[in-house]
Amino acid sequence: MFEDKNPSKTSLSDLGEFALIDHLTKSIKLQNESSILGIGDDAAILSHSENKTLVSTDLLIEGIHFDLSYMPLKHLGYKAVMVNLSDLYAMNATPTQITVSLAVSNRFTLEALEELYAGIELACKNYKVDLIGGDTTSSTSGLLLSVTALGMASGNQVVKRSGAQENDLLVVSGDLGAAYAGLQVLEREKAVFKANPNSQPDLSPYSYSIERQLKPEARKDIIELLEELNIVPTSMIDISDGLSSEILHLSKSSEVGFHIFEDKLPLDPEVNLICEEFKFNSTTAVLNGGEDYELLFTIAQKDFEKIKNHPLLSVIGHVVEKNAGCQLITGLGHQIELTAQGWQSFENK
Ligand code: ADP
Ligand code: MG
Repeated sequence: MFEDKNPSKTSLSDLGEFALIDHLTKSIKLQNESSILGIGDDAAILSHSENKTLVSTDLLIEGIHFDLSYMPLKHLGYKAVMVNLSDLYAMNATPTQITVSLAVSNRFTLEALEELYAGIELACKNYKVDLIGGDTTSSTSGLLLSVTALGMASGNQVVKRSGAQENDLLVVSGDLGAAYAGLQVLEREKAVFKANPNSQPDLSPYSYSIERQLKPEARKDIIELLEELNIVPTSMIDISDGLSSEILHLSKSSEVGFHIFEDKLPLDPEVNLICEEFKFNSTTAVLNGGEDYELLFTIAQKDFEKIKNHPLLSVIGHVVEKNAGCQLITGLGHQIELTAQGWQSFENK
C-alpha cells in the first residue's frame, strides 16, 4: 500500500535526516509551561517544579503491533500517542510532553511520514501535550515507532497498581471488547480484499468497533471526572491487554483477590452483534481482547455514592482476600478463575 513509486511523492533519500526532522516538526508549538526547551538542541529542558515526574514508553513494530494494510498512518501516529498517554492517566497523572523515535525504510515517502506526524500532532493538540524531541534513523524493512510520554502529578495524587484493599469496589470506564471486535472485522475485510480487490465492503454496521481499534482515545476525561468527584482510586491500571490480564496485575501488585460479575460487564450493543456474527463469546472478547484503553480502578466503599449510576463508569466487582483468587461469577452463578490468556487464546478457535 505504501510502496509508492509515484514521482509526485518525495523520496526520503532526497532529504537527509536533518531536513526530514525539520520538515516533520516545523509546525510544532509548545503549549505547556513545563516545556522550557523543545526540539532543536541536544536535549529538551523540562521543569515540573515540586510535582512528581512520570515517564512511560512504548515501542511499536510494523507486522507485530500494527498492520498498515488497514491502519492509515495518521491513525497509527494518533494511536501511538494514545497508548502512552493512557499509561500516564492510569497513574492519575497529567501527560505534558512526548518524544517520538522513528526507524523507517525507504519504502516510505516524505508524504507518508507527514501523515504519521499529522496524527501525532492532532493527538498532541487534543490532549495538550508537547512534542519535545525524538530520534530518526533508517531501517532495512518496515517502520518502528517509539513514543515516550512524560507527565506530572502531585505526590499524594499518584495512583499505583498496588493500593487495592479488601472490600474496595472495582470500577471500569466506558465499555469493553469493541477494539477486539473491530480488529476481527478489519482482518476479515483484509482477507476478502486480497481475494477480490474490487470488493466494496459496507463497514457502517461496525463503525464504532472499527473506530475503537483504529482511533482509540485515552481517558483524560475520566481522570478529570475523578478529580471533580473528589475520588482518589486506591489502585488503577489501563486496559491494554484485556480485562482479565489487568485484574491479575492489580491482584498481584495489591496482594488481593477479585470477584467480577459477568452481567455487570459494560458492552456496546454493536460488540454483541459482531460476536454473534463471528461466533465468539462476548465475555471472552471482554476478558481477553484488549486495546480498549479504558481505566480499571478500585475505590473505597465510601466513594460509591459519588459514582453510582454515572453513565461513564461501571462497578463490575469488588476486592476479596488474596486466597479467594480472581473469579468471574457468570450469569448462572458459576465461578470461573480468571487467567491471562492475551491474544493467543483466540488463535485456535
Ligand atoms: P542528536 O544527534 O543529538 O541525536 P538529532 O539530530 O537526532 O540529534 O535531533 C535533533 C533534534 O531533533 C533533537 O532535538 C531531537 O530531539 C529532535 N528529533 C529528532 N528526531 C525527531 C523526531 N522523529 N521527532 C521529533 N523530534 C525529533
Ligand atoms: Mg539523534
